[in-house]
Amino acid sequence: MSKLKNKVAVITGGNSGIGLGIAEALKNEGAVGAIVGRNQETLDSAIALLGDSFIAINADVTNMDDLERIFKTTSEKFGKIDTLVANAGAGTMGTVANTTEADYDKLMNLNLKAVYFTVQKSLPYMNDGSSVILIGSNAAHRAYASFTLYGAAKSAVIYLAKGFSSDLLDRKIRANVIIPGTTDTPAFDKFIPAEQIDAVKQQFAEVVPAGRIGKPSDIGKIAVFLASEDSSFMLGAELLVDGGMTYLA
Ligand code: NDP
Repeated sequence: MSKLKNKVAVITGGNSGIGLGIAEALKNEGAVGAIVGRNQETLDSAIALLGDSFIAINADVTNMDDLERIFKTTSEKFGKIDTLVANAGAGTMGTVANTTEADYDKLMNLNLKAVYFTVQKSLPYMNDGSSVILIGSNAAHRAYASFTLYGAAKSAVIYLAKGFSSDLLDRKIRANVIIPGTTDTPAFDKFIPAEQIDAVKQQFAEVVPAGRIGKPSDIGKIAVFLASEDSSFMLGAELLVDGGMTYLA
């Protein structure tokens, strides 16, 4: 039986990588809704994959007017929203010695401020009892070279799941956070010269206790659980999905 039949979901960054894996998993359990991104080409190919139970919204999550438009458009098309996945994000490398103020603002705007306001702007359009799913990173739990600021932003996102759940108790909106480890997405590839991608992924796979790096579908399965009634007793929970990399490697 479909766990999310006709539930309405919004997935930011649903046109690529983890967000697309989540959109596919929710759709396979019967959800409908919207994916959000800025790249029209990848939005179009994601919709070709998801089918017409999803719409694409070209919007920038760091822009407050765009955020309003995302939720207004979705609720006009489908009615009130049951699941919000605030997934859009990106890590950039830099150490405390070489990060500029502009680098700082850009990273924090996307990975923290936009997450906070994505949730805030969704609230008038969310059903009571709905589920907010945030995406952290295991960079919040262990130091990876030059991911200091990204890890700090994601640590704050992990806190937001608790804070939002507390703030929204009166509406029974629960927020939880999935914490992926290294996952095979276009973002991961951006850090590696094209000719080395396969070799680097193999090296990573060898150090992950589970023997492989993550796939977007690994995260999608957990998102289905958090979107469904199966997780109705979970508020502010952190779900680490990293093949054991954070604490066992
Ligand atoms: P991708 O680069 O594959 O996807 C990122 C998505 O975010 C894209 O769909 C992109 O769409 C969207 N996005 C980025 N900026 C904006 C913006 N300003 N407005 C709207 N959409 C935006 O990356 P991943 O799938 O790897 O990352 C997804 C999430 O998972 C991120 O939060 C990332 O930090 C987290 N994560 C990833 C890990 C990994 O190893 N891959 C590990 C841990 C966490 P577009 O380009 O069209 O704007």
